Amino acid sequence: MMENLIIVGSGPAGFTASVYAGRARLSPLLITGRALGGQISLTNYIENYPGFPEGITGQELTQLMQRQAERFGTRLQMDEVSEVDFSVRPFKVRTHAQEYEARAVIVATGASPRKLGVPGEEEFTGRGVSYCATCDGFFYQNRTVIVVGGGDSAVEEAMFLTRYADKVYLVHRRNRLRAEKVIQERAFRNEKIEWAWDSVVTEILGEQGMAQARVRNVETGEESFLQADGIFIYIGNIPNTQFLGGQVELNELGYIVTDRRCHTSVPGVFAAGDAQEWVLQQIATAVGSGAIAAMEADKFIAELEGMAYPERTA
Ligand code: NAP
Repeated sequence: MMENLIIVGSGPAGFTASVYAGRARLSPLLITGRALGGQISLTNYIENYPGFPEGITGQELTQLMQRQAERFGTRLQMDEVSEVDFSVRPFKVRTHAQEYEARAVIVATGASPRKLGVPGEEEFTGRGVSYCATCDGFFYQNRTVIVVGGGDSAVEEAMFLTRYADKVYLVHRRNRLRAEKVIQERAFRNEKIEWAWDSVVTEILGEQGMAQARVRNVETGEESFLQADGIFIYIGNIPNTQFLGGQVELNELGYIVTDRRCHTSVPGVFAAGDAQEWVLQQIATAVGSGAIAAMEADKFIAELEGMAYPERTA
């Protein structure tokens, strides 16, 4: 199947690229990936995306973005890209079910939660270990949970978990948070949060489900155990770029290297959002890069067709 433009990923970057490409009459195909909405669908409440002064849930924002993308002719394919071949023209994009050909591709596959990599983490995933408070917080009514990390995600999700849990331990490896000041201030006022500074989780233990975490103070070397029913890990993300098989240039952390116009090292392949090497991973920046990538893809396709830009989209 030959496509003008395939957009890979259904987070804010992918949906914004779809809106712009749809309005440029490219009739893009958006291959959603496993979770529609990407990371925002795992986010409870978004307060810093302009236009929603009272905030909006990640799921609502995803639905609105999807509606807007479909309104302008984007076709959604619920599937996951497993492999690409950017050495041939048109490009080949393979999912588990199908193979597509495309003149241009926008990679907007975002990033996934980083794992702690400690004993017990794999074993208790789904039985006490979680990476999504929005999905699993409800199961911890009147319980005790641990949150690991000191960034925006950890601190915001720790606050969200206090709706359910009686107590939330926040374990952070330093004695200062990385999270935005306004988020910090709110968290420090929350009496259900107990802070474990300069500390790292070294093991997750239990029998049927998770029951405690072994914690080491990195300053003193002292070890202790925190009793808890669940542990939520928010220690940053790793980019979802493995499926590219090294065919576009990545930085040392695996993020896609682009220029300011979202061009990757392969002409005709663009990147947007959290998968892209960028200074700030926010919905607002993902949306901006999605728009740029779509307009650049439009120009690229117009040039392939030998059409003068911008007449093609007029
Ligand atoms: P992040 O900002 O990269 O923070 C990761 C946190 O985990 C840091 O505090 C880091 O400690 C800690 N950490 C990293 N590796 C660790 C390890 N192996 N063991 C223990 N702790 C470890 O990640 P994030 O909070 O998931 O946020 C990702 C991006 O999304 C950021 O750009 C963030 O601003 C954005 N975001 C924004 C909002 C919002 O604006 N409301 C909400 C969520 C996410 P150190 O501090 O010591 O490095």
